[in-house]
Amino acid sequence: TIRTRIAPSPTGDPHVGTAYIALFNYCFAKSQGGQFLLRIEDTDQVRSTRESEQAILDSLRWLGLDWDEGPDVGGPHGPYRQSDRSEIYQTYCDELLAKGHAFKCYRTPEELDALRDARREQGGFAALKPSELALPADEVAKREAAGMPYVIRMVVPEGEGPCPIEDMLRGTIELDWGQVDAQVLLKSDGLPTYHLANVVDDHLMGITHVLRGEEWINSAPKHKLLYEYFGWDMPVLCHLPLLRNPDKSKLSKRKNPTSILYYKDMGYLPEGLLNYLGRMGWSMPDESEKFTLEQMIANFDIMRVSLGGPIFDVEKLDWLNGLWIRENLSEEQLAERLHHWAFNKERLMQLLPFAQTRMNKLSDFAPLMAFMAAGQLPISQASFADLKMEEDQLKAVLQFALWRLEALRTWERDAIFNELKTLAGQMDIKVKDFLAPLFIAIAGTTASFSVMDSMTLLGPDMSRARIRHALN
Ligand code: ATP
Ligand code: GLU
Repeated sequence: TIRTRIAPSPTGDPHVGTAYIALFNYCFAKSQGGQFLLRIEDTDQVRSTRESEQAILDSLRWLGLDWDEGPDVGGPHGPYRQSDRSEIYQTYCDELLAKGHAFKCYRTPEELDALRDARREQGGFAALKPSELALPADEVAKREAAGMPYVIRMVVPEGEGPCPIEDMLRGTIELDWGQVDAQVLLKSDGLPTYHLANVVDDHLMGITHVLRGEEWINSAPKHKLLYEYFGWDMPVLCHLPLLRNPDKSKLSKRKNPTSILYYKDMGYLPEGLLNYLGRMGWSMPDESEKFTLEQMIANFDIMRVSLGGPIFDVEKLDWLNGLWIRENLSEEQLAERLHHWAFNKERLMQLLPFAQTRMNKLSDFAPLMAFMAAGQLPISQASFADLKMEEDQLKAVLQFALWRLEALRTWERDAIFNELKTLAGQMDIKVKDFLAPLFIAIAGTTASFSVMDSMTLLGPDMSRARIRHALN
């Protein structure tokens, strides 16, 4: 049976690109009676977090993509989180070492830099080869005896030469062995890199087809070699085109919100967003724009994916989502959606502490709180005019605040406040003056309750998006 997977790294917000790749893996498997798995690739222990993992699982579920096996539902090929599989990778790495397909490398970071610089001066590929990395036997013995840290690298062909990679959509892709370096497989802390873990897991989990973003094409030779070393069949590869901004550059959060949570907070319907992602590079045989997940599966043919980079255009998404709202929901259902989205008692209870002290009449509530249930606010240069702040300084405040808030891991009032207070100090601006532009970006006015409370309640995605919007 066909088995596909989505293998997200939990290092940040759940990315719409992840949902797009997951959708195509899901449809490919389900259209052929196969299975779809979710595996967490958290080998980067510094950047990976459980919060990010949970947000990814929640977001994909919200969209209606369900997995047959995964870290939260289990399955016969677990564990499905790479940090729980360290021993497995050790064992397979030992096998490569024993067979001479991998070697211990004691090179120091300084030596590696020097080797790379020398390579660059030659003007060729910067990929370091096993022969260059090798040290004389006595030097290896010395470093070993001194207990110096080492990594395990894979043996790769020394010179240049064609390395053809088969791709379901692209046919044969011609790559060059010259570009392929002696990749680290096991880091000095004993944990694997993406390449080793990915190949071992795809094999052990019985993955037959790997549909992933085209940014992984250059990794395919390493993977192909690893499958050969282990004597395993390689899954069929299919590199999907990356999502693009309307200006054709790679989708980036500076130009388009990329977090699924943002689209959820904005009030897009999961069906609408999923439908839109299905339109990314793919079309129904009858070219209809609006279709359900079931219809997409029923009509799925991977060969209908076009390789020109699909443009993720929020205006088109608005249009399509509007069709879903107007054509697919009864009034009863729309009421239900609104209730779940922002008009439920739990949400009201979060807002009331900030509203009640400012209310004389019940009718004061909506104007006070409208910005909490809005998407982007109609902000322009003029909105900031009353602040009497130089434009350069205004931009600097918003931009620096945005960068700090993007890096913030825990979205809590105190953490937000400390971050901004520190920044204000560093920029030598009084906290009150510093916060004023943020008030406007977030709430549309300075006459609102504390901007720290607004941001806490709005959440990271909408808060950052509003500041970004104010900067444009
Ligand atoms: P960076 O700017 O560092 O490349 P990013 O925006 O690509 O960051 P990542 O955290 O690297 O974000 O990516 C998260 C996931 O989203 C990855 O699985 C990646 O394949 C996917 N992804 C990122 N950008 C795109 C894109 N333009 N199209 C499709 N998938 C994408
Ligand atoms: N962990 C990788 C990512 O985040 C998976 C790439 C792959 O599908 O092989 O994109």
